[in-house]
Amino acid sequence: MKESSAREAWRAALGELQLQLPKATFETWLKQTEGIGYDEKNFVVEVPTAFAIAMLERRMYQAIQKTVEKVTGQPLDIQFQVKAAPGLGLARSEATVGESSPRPQGEWAEEGQEVSEALLQELSGTAPSGAADGATAQTFNPKYNFASFVEGPSNRLAFSAAQAVADAPGQRYNPLFLYSGVGLGKTHLLHAIGQACASKGRSVLYVSAEQFTNDFISAIRTGTTEEFRDRYRSVQVLLIDDVQFISGKEQTQEGFFHTFNDLHNAGHQIVLASDRPPRALALLADRLRSRFEWGLIADIQPPDLETRMAILSAKADELGTRIDESVIELIAKRVQKNVRELEGSLNRVVAFADLMNTPITLESTSRMLDDLTSDTARHSIDPERIIEEVSHQYKVSVDEILGKSKRKMVAQARQVAMYLLMYELGMGTTDVGRLLGGRDHSTASHGAGKINGELNEDAQLRQKVLSIKEAIFT
Ligand code: ADP
Ligand code: MG
Repeated sequence: MKESSAREAWRAALGELQLQLPKATFETWLKQTEGIGYDEKNFVVEVPTAFAIAMLERRMYQAIQKTVEKVTGQPLDIQFQVKAAPGLGLARSEATVGESSPRPQGEWAEEGQEVSEALLQELSGTAPSGAADGATAQTFNPKYNFASFVEGPSNRLAFSAAQAVADAPGQRYNPLFLYSGVGLGKTHLLHAIGQACASKGRSVLYVSAEQFTNDFISAIRTGTTEEFRDRYRSVQVLLIDDVQFISGKEQTQEGFFHTFNDLHNAGHQIVLASDRPPRALALLADRLRSRFEWGLIADIQPPDLETRMAILSAKADELGTRIDESVIELIAKRVQKNVRELEGSLNRVVAFADLMNTPITLESTSRMLDDLTSDTARHSIDPERIIEEVSHQYKVSVDEILGKSKRKMVAQARQVAMYLLMYELGMGTTDVGRLLGGRDHSTASHGAGKINGELNEDAQLRQKVLSIKEAIFT
Protein backbone atom coordinates (compact mmCIF):
# COMPACT_ATOMS: atom_id res chain seq x y z
CA MET A 1 0.00 0.00 0.00
CA LYS A 2 1.32 3.39 -0.91
CA GLU A 3 0.21 5.87 1.68
CA SER A 4 1.62 9.29 1.04
CA SER A 5 1.06 9.05 -2.68
CA ALA A 6 -2.49 7.86 -2.02
CA ARG A 7 -3.11 11.01 -0.07
CA GLU A 8 -1.80 13.17 -2.88
CA ALA A 9 -3.61 11.25 -5.56
CA TRP A 10 -6.85 11.61 -3.66
CA ARG A 11 -6.30 15.33 -3.20
CA ALA A 12 -5.83 15.66 -6.93
CA ALA A 13 -8.95 13.59 -7.55
CA LEU A 14 -10.90 15.76 -5.14
CA GLY A 15 -9.74 18.83 -7.02
CA GLU A 16 -11.22 17.39 -10.20
CA LEU A 17 -14.39 16.18 -8.54
CA GLN A 18 -14.96 19.58 -7.05
CA LEU A 19 -15.23 20.93 -10.57
CA GLN A 20 -17.51 18.16 -11.76
CA LEU A 21 -20.03 18.06 -8.93
CA PRO A 22 -22.44 20.62 -7.49
CA LYS A 23 -20.85 22.54 -4.65
CA ALA A 24 -23.21 21.33 -1.95
CA THR A 25 -22.68 17.74 -3.01
CA PHE A 26 -18.98 18.06 -2.84
CA GLU A 27 -18.98 19.85 0.50
CA THR A 28 -21.29 17.38 2.13
CA TRP A 29 -20.05 14.06 0.91
CA LEU A 30 -16.50 14.43 -0.30
CA LYS A 31 -14.76 17.24 1.44
CA GLN A 32 -13.95 15.34 4.59
CA THR A 33 -12.68 12.19 2.93
CA GLU A 34 -9.11 11.04 2.67
CA GLY A 35 -7.18 8.69 0.43
CA ILE A 36 -5.28 6.33 2.68
CA GLY A 37 -3.70 3.76 0.42
CA TYR A 38 -3.76 1.83 -2.82
CA ASP A 39 -2.28 -1.20 -4.54
CA GLU A 40 -2.65 -2.66 -8.03
CA LYS A 41 -6.34 -3.32 -7.53
CA ASN A 42 -7.89 -1.05 -4.94
CA PHE A 43 -7.87 2.52 -3.87
CA VAL A 44 -8.95 2.99 -0.25
CA VAL A 45 -10.78 6.10 0.87
CA GLU A 46 -11.73 7.01 4.41
CA VAL A 47 -15.16 8.57 4.89
CA PRO A 48 -16.67 10.00 8.11
CA THR A 49 -19.90 7.99 8.20
CA ALA A 50 -21.45 4.84 6.82
CA PHE A 51 -24.28 6.94 5.48
CA ALA A 52 -21.84 8.98 3.43
CA ILE A 53 -20.34 5.77 2.06
CA ALA A 54 -23.76 4.64 0.92
CA MET A 55 -24.26 7.95 -0.86
CA LEU A 56 -20.86 7.86 -2.51
CA GLU A 57 -21.29 4.30 -3.67
CA ARG A 58 -24.80 4.74 -4.93
CA ARG A 59 -24.53 8.10 -6.56
CA MET A 60 -20.97 9.00 -7.34
CA TYR A 61 -19.06 5.79 -7.75
CA GLN A 62 -18.51 6.12 -11.46
CA ALA A 63 -17.40 9.71 -11.35
CA ILE A 64 -15.00 8.94 -8.53
CA GLN A 65 -13.62 5.85 -10.17
CA LYS A 66 -13.02 7.59 -13.48
CA THR A 67 -11.32 10.48 -11.78
CA VAL A 68 -9.07 8.24 -9.73
CA GLU A 69 -8.15 6.34 -12.88
CA LYS A 70 -7.26 9.57 -14.56
CA VAL A 71 -5.08 10.65 -11.67
CA THR A 72 -3.31 7.35 -10.98
CA GLY A 73 -3.32 6.01 -14.50
CA GLN A 74 -4.76 2.72 -13.25
CA PRO A 75 -8.32 1.35 -13.39
CA LEU A 76 -8.73 0.81 -9.65
CA ASP A 77 -11.70 -0.26 -7.58
CA ILE A 78 -12.61 2.27 -4.96
CA GLN A 79 -13.05 0.94 -1.45
CA PHE A 80 -14.69 3.20 1.06
CA GLN A 81 -14.26 2.68 4.76
CA VAL A 82 -15.47 4.53 7.82
CA LYS A 83 -12.87 6.70 9.46
CA ALA A 84 -11.69 5.34 12.81
CA ALA A 85 -13.07 7.29 15.79
CA PRO A 86 -10.60 9.72 17.37
CA GLY A 87 -8.84 8.50 20.52
CA LEU A 88 -9.87 9.34 24.04
CA GLY A 89 -6.63 11.15 24.76
CA LEU A 90 -8.10 14.13 26.56
CA ALA A 91 -10.11 12.09 28.97
CA ARG A 92 -7.07 10.04 29.77
CA SER A 93 -4.81 12.97 30.49
CA GLU A 94 -7.43 14.69 32.62
CA ALA A 95 -7.80 11.56 34.66
CA THR A 96 -4.15 11.51 35.58
CA VAL A 97 -3.82 15.16 36.49
CA GLY A 98 -4.03 14.60 40.22
CA GLU A 99 -0.73 12.75 40.18
CA SER A 100 1.30 15.45 38.50
CA SER A 101 4.46 16.68 40.15
CA PRO A 102 4.76 20.18 41.64
CA ARG A 103 5.25 23.00 39.17
CA PRO A 104 7.84 25.72 39.48
CA GLN A 105 6.27 28.60 41.38
CA GLY A 106 5.73 31.99 39.86
CA GLU A 107 8.27 31.71 37.06
CA TRP A 108 8.43 30.23 33.65
CA ALA A 109 9.66 26.73 33.48
CA GLU A 110 13.39 26.95 32.95
CA GLU A 111 14.87 26.49 29.54
CA GLY A 112 16.11 23.05 28.81
CA GLN A 113 14.45 21.76 31.94
CA GLU A 114 13.88 18.04 31.91
CA VAL A 115 10.53 17.17 30.53
CA SER A 116 8.68 16.22 33.66
CA GLU A 117 6.15 13.53 34.16
CA ALA A 118 3.49 16.23 34.51
CA LEU A 119 4.38 17.71 31.16
CA LEU A 120 4.28 14.36 29.50
CA GLN A 121 0.86 13.88 30.92
CA GLU A 122 -0.28 17.20 29.58
CA LEU A 123 1.10 16.25 26.23
CA SER A 124 -0.59 12.88 26.19
CA GLY A 125 -3.94 14.35 25.31
CA THR A 126 -2.71 16.45 22.46
CA ALA A 127 -2.22 15.89 18.78
CA PRO A 128 1.09 14.58 17.49
CA SER A 129 3.78 17.22 17.55
CA GLY A 130 3.60 17.70 13.80
CA ALA A 131 0.42 19.66 14.44
CA ALA A 132 2.13 22.01 16.85
CA ASP A 133 2.63 24.78 14.37
CA GLY A 134 -0.34 26.82 15.45
CA ALA A 135 1.82 29.79 16.23
CA THR A 136 2.92 30.11 12.65
CA ALA A 137 -0.02 28.81 10.66
CA GLN A 138 -2.48 31.65 10.42
CA THR A 139 -5.51 29.97 9.02
CA PHE A 140 -8.66 31.97 9.17
CA ASN A 141 -11.77 30.66 7.53
CA PRO A 142 -12.76 33.49 5.19
CA LYS A 143 -16.41 32.55 5.65
CA TYR A 144 -16.27 33.28 9.36
CA ASN A 145 -16.63 37.04 9.31
CA PHE A 146 -18.92 39.56 10.97
CA ALA A 147 -21.07 40.01 7.89
CA SER A 148 -21.94 36.32 7.74
CA PHE A 149 -22.80 36.11 11.42
CA VAL A 150 -26.55 36.30 11.95
CA GLU A 151 -27.41 38.31 14.99
CA GLY A 152 -30.24 37.41 17.33
CA PRO A 153 -31.24 37.81 20.96
CA SER A 154 -29.31 34.68 21.91
CA ASN A 155 -25.95 35.96 20.69
CA ARG A 156 -26.32 39.74 20.75
CA LEU A 157 -24.02 40.45 23.68
CA ALA A 158 -21.23 38.23 22.37
CA PHE A 159 -21.62 39.60 18.85
CA SER A 160 -21.52 43.27 19.94
CA ALA A 161 -18.60 42.68 22.26
CA ALA A 162 -16.68 40.91 19.50
CA GLN A 163 -17.26 43.85 17.17
CA ALA A 164 -16.24 46.35 19.83
CA VAL A 165 -13.04 44.43 20.42
CA ALA A 166 -12.30 44.29 16.70
CA ASP A 167 -12.87 48.04 16.41
CA ALA A 168 -10.59 48.98 19.26
CA PRO A 169 -8.51 46.05 20.43
CA GLY A 170 -7.02 46.27 23.90
CA GLN A 171 -9.23 49.13 24.95
CA ARG A 172 -12.45 47.68 26.22
CA TYR A 173 -13.37 44.20 27.34
CA ASN A 174 -9.94 42.82 27.93
CA PRO A 175 -10.00 39.92 28.04
CA LEU A 176 -13.19 39.06 26.25
CA PHE A 177 -14.32 35.63 27.34
CA LEU A 178 -16.91 33.91 25.13
CA TYR A 179 -18.63 30.74 26.15
CA SER A 180 -21.39 28.52 24.81
CA GLY A 181 -22.26 24.95 24.01
CA VAL A 182 -20.83 23.45 20.84
CA GLY A 183 -21.67 24.76 17.42
CA LEU A 184 -23.03 28.13 18.48
CA GLY A 185 -20.51 30.42 16.84
CA LYS A 186 -17.56 30.94 19.19
CA THR A 187 -14.93 29.97 16.65
CA HIS A 188 -16.78 31.96 14.02
CA LEU A 189 -16.54 35.09 16.17
CA LEU A 190 -12.87 34.52 17.00
CA HIS A 191 -12.05 34.25 13.31
CA ALA A 192 -14.14 37.33 12.59
CA ILE A 193 -12.22 39.35 15.18
CA GLY A 194 -8.94 38.00 13.88
CA GLN A 195 -9.64 38.86 10.26
CA ALA A 196 -10.96 42.31 11.08
CA CYS A 197 -7.87 43.10 13.15
CA ALA A 198 -5.46 41.61 10.63
CA SER A 199 -7.00 43.65 7.84
CA LYS A 200 -6.17 46.76 9.84
CA GLY A 201 -2.57 45.70 10.02
CA ARG A 202 -2.49 44.39 13.56
CA SER A 203 -0.51 41.31 14.38
CA VAL A 204 -2.94 38.60 15.26
CA LEU A 205 -2.46 35.09 16.54
CA TYR A 206 -5.26 32.55 16.64
CA VAL A 207 -4.54 29.24 18.34
CA SER A 208 -6.53 26.55 20.01
CA ALA A 209 -5.61 25.94 23.62
CA GLU A 210 -4.46 22.56 22.42
CA GLN A 211 -2.00 24.12 20.01
CA PHE A 212 -0.87 26.48 22.70
CA THR A 213 -0.19 23.51 24.95
CA ASN A 214 1.73 21.65 22.26
CA ASP A 215 3.73 24.69 21.45
CA PHE A 216 4.56 25.41 25.05
CA ILE A 217 5.59 21.88 25.81
CA SER A 218 7.73 21.49 22.76
CA ALA A 219 9.42 24.80 23.62
CA ILE A 220 10.35 23.39 26.99
CA ARG A 221 11.54 20.17 25.42
CA THR A 222 13.77 21.86 22.95
CA GLY A 223 14.92 24.59 25.28
CA THR A 224 13.31 27.38 23.31
CA THR A 225 10.98 28.92 25.86
CA GLU A 226 12.44 32.37 25.15
CA GLU A 227 11.38 32.14 21.52
CA PHE A 228 8.04 30.81 22.56
CA ARG A 229 7.58 33.71 24.93
CA ASP A 230 8.65 36.28 22.36
CA ARG A 231 6.38 34.87 19.73
CA TYR A 232 3.31 35.09 21.92
CA ARG A 233 4.28 38.31 23.62
CA SER A 234 4.76 40.13 20.36
CA VAL A 235 1.20 39.85 19.08
CA GLN A 236 -1.33 42.62 19.48
CA VAL A 237 -4.34 40.37 19.42
CA LEU A 238 -4.23 36.86 20.86
CA LEU A 239 -7.23 34.61 20.23
CA ILE A 240 -7.36 31.35 22.12
CA ASP A 241 -10.03 28.84 21.27
CA ASP A 242 -11.35 25.95 23.34
CA VAL A 243 -9.75 27.16 26.53
CA GLN A 244 -11.39 24.36 28.49
CA PHE A 245 -8.63 22.19 27.09
CA ILE A 246 -6.09 23.58 29.55
CA SER A 247 -8.11 22.81 32.64
CA GLY A 248 -6.06 20.46 34.75
CA LYS A 249 -2.89 21.11 32.77
CA GLU A 250 -0.87 22.91 35.38
CA GLN A 251 2.30 23.56 33.43
CA THR A 252 0.36 24.93 30.51
CA GLN A 253 -1.64 27.17 32.79
CA GLU A 254 1.58 28.45 34.24
CA GLY A 255 2.80 29.36 30.77
CA PHE A 256 -0.53 30.84 29.90
CA PHE A 257 -0.68 32.93 33.06
CA HIS A 258 2.56 34.64 32.15
CA THR A 259 1.62 35.10 28.52
CA PHE A 260 -1.62 36.63 29.68
CA ASN A 261 0.07 39.06 32.04
CA ASP A 262 2.65 40.10 29.48
CA LEU A 263 0.02 40.87 26.90
CA HIS A 264 -2.42 42.49 29.24
CA ASN A 265 0.22 44.74 30.74
CA ALA A 266 1.22 45.84 27.28
CA GLY A 267 -2.41 46.73 26.51
CA HIS A 268 -2.80 43.99 23.94
CA GLN A 269 -6.10 42.29 23.37
CA ILE A 270 -6.89 38.76 24.50
CA VAL A 271 -10.01 36.88 23.47
CA LEU A 272 -10.85 33.49 24.87
CA ALA A 273 -13.51 30.98 23.92
CA SER A 274 -14.64 28.07 26.02
CA ASP A 275 -17.49 25.64 26.32
CA ARG A 276 -18.02 26.74 29.93
CA PRO A 277 -17.80 29.97 31.92
CA PRO A 278 -14.56 30.46 33.90
CA ARG A 279 -16.14 29.52 37.19
CA ALA A 280 -17.21 26.18 35.76
CA LEU A 281 -13.77 25.32 34.45
CA ALA A 282 -12.74 22.65 36.88
CA LEU A 283 -9.06 22.37 37.66
CA LEU A 284 -8.29 25.88 36.59
CA ALA A 285 -5.83 27.66 38.87
CA ASP A 286 -7.66 30.37 40.81
CA ARG A 287 -5.37 33.13 39.74
CA LEU A 288 -5.88 32.28 36.09
CA ARG A 289 -9.62 32.11 36.62
CA SER A 290 -9.64 35.54 38.16
CA ARG A 291 -7.66 36.87 35.17
CA PHE A 292 -10.31 35.47 32.85
CA GLU A 293 -12.95 37.29 34.83
CA TRP A 294 -11.28 40.68 34.58
CA GLY A 295 -12.90 41.72 31.36
CA LEU A 296 -16.24 40.83 29.87
CA ILE A 297 -17.77 37.38 29.96
CA ALA A 298 -20.38 36.86 27.26
CA ASP A 299 -22.36 33.73 26.60
CA ILE A 300 -24.11 32.54 23.47
CA GLN A 301 -27.37 30.68 23.90
CA PRO A 302 -29.00 28.40 21.32
CA PRO A 303 -30.79 30.60 18.76
CA ASP A 304 -34.56 31.02 18.82
CA LEU A 305 -36.73 29.92 15.92
CA GLU A 306 -36.59 33.23 14.11
CA THR A 307 -32.81 33.39 14.28
CA ARG A 308 -32.51 29.79 13.17
CA MET A 309 -34.62 30.60 10.15
CA ALA A 310 -32.52 33.67 9.37
CA ILE A 311 -29.35 31.59 9.62
CA LEU A 312 -30.76 28.96 7.28
CA SER A 313 -31.81 31.55 4.73
CA ALA A 314 -28.36 33.07 4.81
CA LYS A 315 -26.71 29.68 4.37
CA ALA A 316 -29.05 28.79 1.53
CA ASP A 317 -28.05 32.02 -0.22
CA GLU A 318 -24.44 31.11 0.33
CA LEU A 319 -25.04 27.75 -1.33
CA GLY A 320 -26.78 29.52 -4.16
CA THR A 321 -29.98 27.54 -3.70
CA ARG A 322 -33.49 28.83 -3.52
CA ILE A 323 -35.43 27.13 -0.80
CA ASP A 324 -39.03 27.54 0.10
CA GLU A 325 -39.79 29.38 3.33
CA SER A 326 -41.85 26.46 4.58
CA VAL A 327 -38.90 24.11 4.15
CA ILE A 328 -36.63 26.53 6.00
CA GLU A 329 -39.17 26.64 8.77
CA LEU A 330 -39.42 22.87 8.94
CA ILE A 331 -35.65 22.48 9.29
CA ALA A 332 -35.48 25.28 11.85
CA LYS A 333 -38.20 23.67 13.90
CA ARG A 334 -36.72 20.23 13.76
CA VAL A 335 -33.09 21.08 14.45
CA GLN A 336 -32.77 23.21 17.52
CA LYS A 337 -29.64 22.43 19.43
CA ASN A 338 -26.90 24.08 17.51
CA VAL A 339 -26.05 25.94 14.37
CA ARG A 340 -23.59 23.40 13.09
CA GLU A 341 -26.31 20.76 13.01
CA LEU A 342 -28.63 23.25 11.40
CA GLU A 343 -26.11 23.87 8.64
CA GLY A 344 -25.42 20.18 8.28
CA SER A 345 -29.09 19.41 7.84
CA LEU A 346 -29.47 22.08 5.21
CA ASN A 347 -26.41 20.81 3.34
CA ARG A 348 -27.80 17.32 3.27
CA VAL A 349 -31.19 18.40 2.10
CA VAL A 350 -29.63 20.40 -0.71
CA ALA A 351 -27.15 17.71 -1.64
CA PHE A 352 -29.85 15.07 -1.67
CA ALA A 353 -32.03 17.08 -4.01
CA ASP A 354 -29.01 17.69 -6.23
CA LEU A 355 -28.12 14.05 -6.41
CA MET A 356 -31.61 12.77 -6.95
CA ASN A 357 -32.28 15.62 -9.29
CA THR A 358 -35.54 16.37 -7.48
CA PRO A 359 -36.94 19.61 -6.13
CA ILE A 360 -36.65 20.29 -2.41
CA THR A 361 -40.10 19.72 -0.96
CA LEU A 362 -41.52 19.64 2.53
CA GLU A 363 -41.93 15.96 2.19
CA SER A 364 -38.45 15.05 1.02
CA THR A 365 -36.99 17.34 3.66
CA SER A 366 -39.01 15.75 6.38
CA ARG A 367 -37.92 12.29 5.34
CA MET A 368 -34.31 13.39 5.13
CA LEU A 369 -34.45 14.88 8.60
CA ASP A 370 -35.88 11.68 10.00
CA ASP A 371 -32.56 10.01 9.38
CA LEU A 372 -30.75 12.78 11.18
CA THR A 373 -32.80 13.52 14.25
CA SER A 374 -33.39 10.46 16.26
CA ASP A 375 -32.84 11.40 19.86
CA THR A 376 -34.52 14.69 20.40
CA ALA A 377 -36.44 15.43 23.56
CA ARG A 378 -39.59 15.71 21.50
CA HIS A 379 -39.74 11.97 21.32
CA SER A 380 -40.75 11.95 24.93
CA ILE A 381 -44.10 13.44 23.92
CA ASP A 382 -46.54 10.81 22.91
CA PRO A 383 -48.15 11.16 19.45
CA GLU A 384 -51.38 9.77 20.86
CA ARG A 385 -51.41 12.60 23.36
CA ILE A 386 -51.38 15.10 20.50
CA ILE A 387 -54.26 13.39 18.72
CA GLU A 388 -56.28 13.33 21.94
CA GLU A 389 -55.69 17.01 22.54
CA VAL A 390 -56.69 17.88 18.98
CA SER A 391 -59.82 15.82 19.42
CA HIS A 392 -60.56 17.63 22.66
CA GLN A 393 -60.07 21.13 21.20
CA TYR A 394 -62.06 20.43 18.05
CA LYS A 395 -64.71 18.47 19.89
CA VAL A 396 -64.55 15.64 17.39
CA SER A 397 -63.76 12.08 18.43
CA VAL A 398 -60.43 10.38 17.89
CA ASP A 399 -62.25 7.77 15.81
CA GLU A 400 -63.52 10.49 13.52
CA ILE A 401 -60.03 11.93 13.12
CA LEU A 402 -58.67 8.54 12.20
CA GLY A 403 -61.69 7.68 10.06
CA LYS A 404 -62.94 8.74 6.65
CA SER A 405 -65.24 11.64 7.49
CA LYS A 406 -64.86 14.65 5.21
CA ARG A 407 -66.78 17.00 7.50
CA LYS A 408 -64.98 20.33 7.58
CA MET A 409 -64.19 20.34 11.30
CA VAL A 410 -63.00 16.75 11.22
CA ALA A 411 -60.83 17.34 8.19
CA GLN A 412 -59.24 20.37 9.77
CA ALA A 413 -58.65 18.57 13.06
CA ARG A 414 -56.96 15.77 11.16
CA GLN A 415 -54.74 18.19 9.30
CA VAL A 416 -53.83 20.02 12.47
CA ALA A 417 -52.80 16.69 13.94
CA MET A 418 -50.65 16.05 10.87
CA TYR A 419 -49.10 19.44 11.24
CA LEU A 420 -48.31 19.04 14.93
CA LEU A 421 -46.95 15.54 14.57
CA MET A 422 -44.67 16.64 11.81
CA TYR A 423 -43.58 20.08 12.89
CA GLU A 424 -43.64 19.76 16.64
CA LEU A 425 -42.84 16.13 17.18
CA GLY A 426 -40.59 15.77 14.20
CA MET A 427 -42.26 12.64 12.88
CA GLY A 428 -41.81 11.63 9.26
CA THR A 429 -44.70 11.83 6.82
CA THR A 430 -44.94 8.07 6.44
CA ASP A 431 -45.35 7.55 10.17
CA VAL A 432 -47.79 10.41 10.46
CA GLY A 433 -49.96 8.98 7.71
CA ARG A 434 -49.87 5.52 9.18
CA LEU A 435 -50.79 6.79 12.64
CA LEU A 436 -53.71 8.84 11.35
CA GLY A 437 -55.77 5.95 10.10
CA GLY A 438 -53.38 4.45 7.57
CA ARG A 439 -53.18 7.35 5.14
CA ASP A 440 -50.31 7.63 2.75
CA HIS A 441 -47.36 9.95 3.21
CA SER A 442 -48.37 12.45 0.55
CA THR A 443 -51.74 12.99 2.24
CA ALA A 444 -49.95 13.65 5.53
CA SER A 445 -47.50 16.04 3.96
CA HIS A 446 -50.24 17.86 2.07
CA GLY A 447 -52.35 18.25 5.22
CA ALA A 448 -49.47 19.50 7.34
CA GLY A 449 -48.35 21.90 4.65
CA LYS A 450 -51.86 23.28 4.26
CA ILE A 451 -52.13 24.11 7.95
CA ASN A 452 -48.67 25.58 7.98
CA GLY A 453 -49.68 27.90 5.16
CA GLU A 454 -53.01 28.88 6.67
CA LEU A 455 -51.61 29.65 10.10
CA ASN A 456 -50.42 33.01 8.91
CA GLU A 457 -53.78 34.13 7.62
CA ASP A 458 -56.30 32.45 9.85
CA ALA A 459 -56.29 33.89 13.36
CA GLN A 460 -58.86 31.43 14.64
CA LEU A 461 -56.83 28.49 13.45
CA ARG A 462 -53.71 29.98 14.95
CA GLN A 463 -55.43 30.33 18.29
CA LYS A 464 -56.61 26.75 18.24
CA VAL A 465 -53.18 25.39 17.39
CA LEU A 466 -51.67 27.52 20.11
CA SER A 467 -54.08 26.19 22.74
CA ILE A 468 -53.32 22.65 21.72
CA LYS A 469 -49.59 23.29 21.91
CA GLU A 470 -49.92 24.87 25.30
CA ALA A 471 -51.89 21.95 26.60
CA ILE A 472 -49.37 19.47 25.29
CA PHE A 473 -46.14 21.15 26.13
CA THR A 474 -46.92 22.50 29.56
P1 ADP B 1 -18.40 26.75 18.23
O1 ADP B 1 -16.99 27.24 18.06
O2 ADP B 1 -19.18 27.54 19.23
O3 ADP B 1 -18.50 25.27 18.48
P2 ADP B 1 -18.64 27.47 15.44
O4 ADP B 1 -18.16 28.87 15.50
O5 ADP B 1 -17.69 26.46 14.91
O6 ADP B 1 -19.17 26.99 16.86
O7 ADP B 1 -20.00 27.45 14.60
C1 ADP B 1 -20.49 26.28 13.96
C2 ADP B 1 -21.04 26.65 12.62
O8 ADP B 1 -22.20 27.43 12.78
C3 ADP B 1 -20.08 27.47 11.80
O9 ADP B 1 -20.18 27.07 10.45
C4 ADP B 1 -20.59 28.89 11.95
O10 ADP B 1 -20.32 29.67 10.82
C5 ADP B 1 -22.08 28.67 12.12
N1 ADP B 1 -22.73 29.67 12.98
C6 ADP B 1 -22.84 29.67 14.32
N2 ADP B 1 -23.53 30.73 14.75
C7 ADP B 1 -23.87 31.45 13.66
C8 ADP B 1 -24.59 32.66 13.45
N3 ADP B 1 -25.14 33.36 14.47
N4 ADP B 1 -24.74 33.10 12.19
C9 ADP B 1 -24.21 32.42 11.16
N5 ADP B 1 -23.53 31.27 11.28
C10 ADP B 1 -23.34 30.78 12.51
MG1 MG C 1 -15.22 26.16 18.20
